[in-house]
Amino acid sequence: MTRIRSAIIVALAALAPAVGANEVESACHKISGKLASVSFKECNTLQMQPSGFHSVDRFPLLIKEYPPLEARKPKGRVLMVGGTHGDELSSISVVFKWMHTLEKHHSGLFHWRINPLLNPDGALQPRHSRTNANRVDLNRNFTTPESHLGAALAYWYGKARKNKRRYPGPYPLSEPETNWLYQEISNFKPDVIIAVHAPYSLVDYDAPNRGNAPKRIGNLRKNLMGTYPGSLGNYAGIHLGIPVITLELPHAGIMPTKKQIKWLWTDLVRWLIRNV
Ligand SMILES: [Zn+2]
Repeated sequence: MTRIRSAIIVALAALAPAVGANEVESACHKISGKLASVSFKECNTLQMQPSGFHSVDRFPLLIKEYPPLEARKPKGRVLMVGGTHGDELSSISVVFKWMHTLEKHHSGLFHWRINPLLNPDGALQPRHSRTNANRVDLNRNFTTPESHLGAALAYWYGKARKNKRRYPGPYPLSEPETNWLYQEISNFKPDVIIAVHAPYSLVDYDAPNRGNAPKRIGNLRKNLMGTYPGSLGNYAGIHLGIPVITLELPHAGIMPTKKQIKWLWTDLVRWLIRNV
């Protein structure tokens, strides 16, 4: 018995470093296996870092940093997040395309941190879902001001009519994915957050002053939707005062054209230059 147990321990110990080192590679296999628009090479060559946080089903939450360059003080810090809703696959793939733009052209103008896939459990299963593995809508699971604790759940019982796609979870930050983003925001202290979604074909903007909301980003026009208790826009944009740009791509399952992807990026950077 003891010999078997020690043999198992030796085998596990031999496996452990390889598993750690290959965590990103294995994640890229799964991501490229699901997304037709992202090849394994396109994912793996980015050399994303594990954040140290995992989804409910233990998939690593990955981060790619484009740090300040020596000769240039960045104008500001930008945090970008894709794939909050697992059924909005284009919102993941487009972020991969933009990371490759930064691979070529990062000039130190901004300090970027990018998470292309906040909700891997929702996105990477054969039947992808908006919610995470606990069936929580991550964009309703953020904290709300103290005076409104429980507001997200109250809203869900009331106005959202217990819509399963919008369940905010039992309490704010109950989910590991939102917990990570919460800590990322508090550590990185971004000047702007960009959240990529689909399929409403618009730009939304949450900030204390909505006067400088982008009028248009690429083919997406400004349409201010109002915020929901527990959403990232409500938490970061209204409560913390960090502007949140939400890009709603036109289709969840169809990629914008190369030209549109480039146009969105150019307009986004132009807005950042003027407003950060
Ligand atoms: Zn969404």
